[in-house]
Amino acid sequence: MKSKNKTKFLSVFLTALMLLTGCKSYNEADIKTSEFFAMDTYISISAYGENAENALDNCRKEIKSLDSQLSVTNSDSEVCRINSSKGETVSLSNDADRIITAALELSEKTNGALDISLYPVVSGMCFTFGEYQSPSEKALNDLLKNTGYEKISCKDGILTLPKDFKIDLGAVAKGYGSDRAIQILKEKGVTSALVNLGGNIALLGSKPDGSDWSVGVQNPFGEGYACIVKSRDKYIVTSGNYQRYFEENGKRYCHIIDPKTGYPVDNGLASVTVIGDGGLICDGLSTALFVMGEQGAVDFWKEQGDFEMIIVTEDKRVLATEGIFGDCPAAELGEVVKIEK
Ligand code: AMP
Ligand code: MG
Repeated sequence: MKSKNKTKFLSVFLTALMLLTGCKSYNEADIKTSEFFAMDTYISISAYGENAENALDNCRKEIKSLDSQLSVTNSDSEVCRINSSKGETVSLSNDADRIITAALELSEKTNGALDISLYPVVSGMCFTFGEYQSPSEKALNDLLKNTGYEKISCKDGILTLPKDFKIDLGAVAKGYGSDRAIQILKEKGVTSALVNLGGNIALLGSKPDGSDWSVGVQNPFGEGYACIVKSRDKYIVTSGNYQRYFEENGKRYCHIIDPKTGYPVDNGLASVTVIGDGGLICDGLSTALFVMGEQGAVDFWKEQGDFEMIIVTEDKRVLATEGIFGDCPAAELGEVVKIEK
């Protein structure tokens, strides 16, 4: 059995690209960068300006604190307290309330493609602790009985999970972390920054020289990029089957689960990237659109339309919505097909 977690490598690569292409008519020494490990991934935040160092310090503290609050594997975390509640009501912190409320709204909107109650299935396959195992149908059906976002009640900061339910905020936590980082950077007066939480990118303003940031969307099949997006003041988040998976008997089991079947998604998509105005929303959407598959994601975009999207399929096609700006060199991938309304 083989397993892989490419997140760290991907992040380093992305950051290098973004900084190298950005430094021209300003003092490079004024760009401050903070790099650390949290939320199970490599994190890098670069900020430009007077208060940058102090802002970065605050961002690091906030993300580390969110990590210990939201981690499903830390027995002292709020999420673990929720998961041991055995049907009793739980009073939530502001952060957990905001994340869970927004995630449940997204579950409604995506017809259950995003579902934070899948933890019994995720842990049943041992994605959490790394001793992976492929699921039997019977085992999955049993695990699925204790899932279903619509059975979770969250109102005015009070959460009730049915007994034996367990939640996992892995599909939205990094996005929320990027929202908080951008908020802190703004409060500290920083106007130009790039936040990278393991491939969850948040852009504050433009590059210090006034031009757009360039963000590489990973080629899921190897080196290089499927697209290089030019953007500012946006969140760019990718969910992909190459980011975390295990292989057994030549079959790949990725970390994103189809809530309807309990099986790892295997629908011909390699990655979905969402570009929009909020970190948590983009993070939740990229996971949900990956579950929906090519047609489902395109239909959803046509209906909702308040974000942009890049899809890379397993047969190496690249589809991009009409509002994407940048270069899609897609060297060994096919021509980019525009998705239009
Ligand atoms: P992401 O990498 O943001 O797409 O989120 C994937 C992570 O969220 C997985 O590692 C699981 O912990 C969890 N997860 C998997 N499938 C789903 C799903 N359909 N809805 C919500 N969370 C999920
Ligand atoms: Mg996500």
